[in-house]
Amino acid sequence: MHRMNDIRATIVAAQKRCDAAAEHVHVVAVTKYVDTSTTEQVLDAGIEHIGENRVEEGVDKWEALGSRGTWHFIGNLQSKKVKQMIDKFQYIHSLDRLSLAKEINKRAPEDKRIKCFVQVNVSGEGSKSGLSPEETIEFIEKLGSYPSIEVVGLMTMAPFVEDPETVRPYFRRLRELRDDIVSKEWTHAPCHELSMGMSNDYVVAVEEGATYIRVGSALVGKN
Ligand SMILES: *Cc1c(COP(=O)(O)O)cnc(C)c1O
Repeated sequence: MHRMNDIRATIVAAQKRCDAAAEHVHVVAVTKYVDTSTTEQVLDAGIEHIGENRVEEGVDKWEALGSRGTWHFIGNLQSKKVKQMIDKFQYIHSLDRLSLAKEINKRAPEDKRIKCFVQVNVSGEGSKSGLSPEETIEFIEKLGSYPSIEVVGLMTMAPFVEDPETVRPYFRRLRELRDDIVSKEWTHAPCHELSMGMSNDYVVAVEEGATYIRVGSALVGKN
């Protein structure tokens, strides 16, 4: 996990360079490419945040290691699988429809609010899930009727491109949308966080205000 030091240094440099950068940037180590023992090494290296995108694999790893770390569910989530994962993951990054919100609300442990990011498809790419920016505010307003859901922020996946500079406008748009929602002061949606940036584009995402970056291949490699 020596690469974590380089990533941290890169983040600090980006924070110094840009006024829009957040004061605290959390690195979610995306461990979907690696097995349980490598995931354990990630935790041993002192990395707190673990990201998984599949319910079965994520739950298996959590069963082995879940007494440690903070677990983030970052993939598409089928409603029928919410029951299996809801008590294991502290954050869900992919809330994108009311039917899923309803299921999360139903399955949430009593007296617990589930921290959710609303996923926005800022680029409009057909292959990506998420709401359009235009739909997002109304969607979040409606989430107020599900008392077990707390909207902690917005999440996006940018298109994969050679030059990450190309996706800067998408990250900026997500930040502006976040600022709009924060200004509503909805109690169910404090919405301060921005989950954006992956291995190839996290520097630009940090410059544009990311508070959670989701880094897989640059940190743990693909094997
Ligand atoms: C796989 C994945 C990542 C990490 O991707 P890398 O390019 O390997 O850093 C981040 N977010 C989501 C939603 C993913 O599925």
